Amino acid sequence: MSKSKILIQLDPDKNPSTFDSVVAIDSGVDHLLTQASVTAENATGLVHGAMFTRGPADLKSTAIFVGGSDVEASEAIVQATIDCFFGPMRVSLMSDPNGSNTTAAAAVLCAEQHSPIDGQTTTILAGTGPVGQRIAQIVANQATKPETSIRVCSRRLEKAKQVCENLQAKTGFKGFVPIQSGTPSESLDAIEGSNLVFAAGAAGIELLPEQWLSMNDAPAVAIDLNAVPPAGISGIEVMDKATQRNNTLCYGAIGVGGLKMKIHKRCLASLFESNDKVLGTMPIYEVGKTL
Ligand code: NAP
Repeated sequence: MSKSKILIQLDPDKNPSTFDSVVAIDSGVDHLLTQASVTAENATGLVHGAMFTRGPADLKSTAIFVGGSDVEASEAIVQATIDCFFGPMRVSLMSDPNGSNTTAAAAVLCAEQHSPIDGQTTTILAGTGPVGQRIAQIVANQATKPETSIRVCSRRLEKAKQVCENLQAKTGFKGFVPIQSGTPSESLDAIEGSNLVFAAGAAGIELLPEQWLSMNDAPAVAIDLNAVPPAGISGIEVMDKATQRNNTLCYGAIGVGGLKMKIHKRCLASLFESNDKVLGTMPIYEVGKTL
């Protein structure tokens, strides 16, 4: 008889994400154990508790989800968790701090329904945050053609350069272009000639003024991930889902959110298929592709 499915939610926050808890329960886990104020240091004991309680054949029925609002703290917990595993003594793991991996995967998959990304110019406005960097990483990992270009925008050029260097080190892709876009007119310049535009700015911040819609070379696809008014890309509505606006197919945050939720749930369900999954940015995107 198979064991009940236990998901252990490790969260660096004092108040663990109720969003992550609800999605876990809706994904069909039998028991959700939520741990608050988790750090890389105190994670070890929690992970050992997951690894050493069931025999190897039953370890696929225990899994770990690492979330939380502090992405760096969350990544440190993921590393500490992986460091605990050895041989068959491991459980499957999903990492989605602040929804960054599932959101980035959903955004790229929405765009890819309408346009290739390889060989194109992609611009990520406010691309220095967790979601923007992950979009850049996913796009870079698809790139085979030398003309593929990914513009990473920031209010500060130095920050954009640093992020591009980090992304290049992580992916090996050499087509990252750092761009300063701290004003509406800089943002309009930044997207010129882009086939795909993603806006990954902080909630409630308008990055791109409505004039973009009348540009001669407006992008084929524009995706705004900010759900809090005003929109990150003026002219896009939060519910837009492949909505044609002039020459561009537009998505708003809720338009992307449906796919994001499906990806999140499918990933959680897949954790219980074996005990050796490590679902980070690229594996989560790969799961999204199967939907
Ligand atoms: P974030 O870290 O809060 O912000 C991303 C970037 O926005 C920052 O790196 C910063 O870039 C820029 N920024 C911050 N404050 C700004 C300001 N006052 N004016 C202009 N730019 C500013 O965002 P995130 O966590 O990566 O998330 C990106 C977006 O996705 C957010 O709107 C978030 O709400 C949304 N999101 C949606 C879902 C969903 O399910 N739909 C899930 C997760 C996230 P620079 O400092 O480099 O300029």
